[in-house]
Amino acid sequence: MQTEASVPCRLTEAARRALVTALGTDKVLESPGEPYDRDSSSYSAEPELVVLPESAEEVQTVMRLANEHRFPVIPRGGGTGTSGGCIALGGGVILSLERMNRMLRIDRENLVAEVEPGVITLDLRNAAAAEGLFYPPDPAGMDASTIGGNVATNAGGPACVKYGVTRDYVLGVEAVTPTGEHIRAGVQTRKGVVGYDMAHLLCGSEGTLGIITKLTLKLIPMPAATVGLAAVFPSMADAMRAVTAILTSGHLPSALEFLDHKCLSLVGDDLPFRVPGATASLLIVELDGVASQIAEEIGAVEAICTAMGATHLMPGGTSEERERIWSVRRQTSTRIRAHAPITISEDIAVPIGRIAPFIELVPAFEEAYGLDIFCFGHAGDGNIHLIVTAPERSEIHRVDEGIRAIVRQVLDMGGTLSGEHGIGEAKKHLLPMELSGESIRLQRGIRQVFDPNNVLNPGKVFG
Ligand SMILES: Cc1cc2nc3c(=O)[nH]c(=O)nc-3n(C[C@H](O)[C@H](O)[C@H](O)COP(=O)(O)OP(=O)(O)OC[C@H]3O[C@@H](n4cnc5c(N)ncnc54)[C@H](O)[C@@H]3O)c2cc1C
Repeated sequence: MQTEASVPCRLTEAARRALVTALGTDKVLESPGEPYDRDSSSYSAEPELVVLPESAEEVQTVMRLANEHRFPVIPRGGGTGTSGGCIALGGGVILSLERMNRMLRIDRENLVAEVEPGVITLDLRNAAAAEGLFYPPDPAGMDASTIGGNVATNAGGPACVKYGVTRDYVLGVEAVTPTGEHIRAGVQTRKGVVGYDMAHLLCGSEGTLGIITKLTLKLIPMPAATVGLAAVFPSMADAMRAVTAILTSGHLPSALEFLDHKCLSLVGDDLPFRVPGATASLLIVELDGVASQIAEEIGAVEAICTAMGATHLMPGGTSEERERIWSVRRQTSTRIRAHAPITISEDIAVPIGRIAPFIELVPAFEEAYGLDIFCFGHAGDGNIHLIVTAPERSEIHRVDEGIRAIVRQVLDMGGTLSGEHGIGEAKKHLLPMELSGESIRLQRGIRQVFDPNNVLNPGKVFG
């Protein structure tokens, strides 16, 4: 489903000329079109202009002109976001960070990386690995997402169950504020508590408080070895009970992912093994660390899965086999979107002990609201991607009602409406269900301090 937005023209001819004069024609796209009109959400809108700055100074120039001529600027990384955050829904200028993509240094001695925001996440992970170091955050779209976008959305991924989210690897941030000042926040060191934690305020701010122009990121030693296990359970609730059992038995996997039977009906044929049964669900478990230790530990995890009802276990395997399973896991959301005309992607998170009870309620929501819900995601974090699908656009009100009911349930269970994808445009109508009026007022106030003229990504997150 594509949601087209009406685009009021906000960019005057004078502003357009000023941008071209300041940046030069090679850094301005006047008839941009694809891919700048969309991300991985259902939203799309044609931007009036795209600018391609190559330095923080050029980003400052754009923001100063935005304040002078009062046009909206929307930062864009890889465009893999699922919340419509990088789309010019109200018109304006897309500021793409794609040319600010230099890997400035991988500092082995200090275990840090310094990068520009347009570096592709996978390239950073590979560059760190070449030095024997590890950058753990691994969002499933990491072959196309940028590190700046990951920080702006505080992206998670399979490794987060053990290693935490993007924010946990952000030491320092350089950014251009909405009014065009260049700021440095955070530190180059492992610790630092001087003043308010501005670096982490920018992290997860979804391109509303500043444009990230440089990052200092924490690296850690590369784990010596990794082992994997794929376990098939008769139902998703059984698989989720195994997740709780693994985590409460002294094991901390480096990944603990799941796919439900509906996802398996779309992608199961690509797995290196056959998944039996119509309601079977798959758990993917990985452990990393010292080879001898994890070899023993994976045996204990297998025993837990068997005790919790696993019907098939596909242990270990080569790194090629593991990569094949991961590639299937990474394709899941794309395949679901191709399968149904209406797809709405939710990424709720519940406390770990509530995963199984929540999952058991999903069929009741499907029945009550006539939905077809595909579930997969980061079981170890309680972060469950629900892709809610319906056969026709006319059903959208029922879909919305169903989603609200699900979110109410999640909040009642002590969960959150978004574990990692953020609010952007897509979820801002749900935001007041989770945040109090007072909290929204304070957050709007913070935004107002950063952006008095409301020029940076206006309308996103709080509306
Ligand atoms: C197949 C697939 C799998 C995915 N899996 C995961 C997953 O496992 N975990 C997860 O967390 N997400 C996942 N996502 C969502 C997406 O990849 C993340 O949200 C990612 O962090 C977005 O990065 P991006 O560079 O594509 O940002 P964009 O989509 O370009 O932008 C996202 C937001 O960040 C802002 N932004 C971008 N760059 C900057 C910058 N330099 N300064 C300030 N603001 C900026 C934009 O304005 C926008 O609000 C997935 C997406 C896809 C398509």
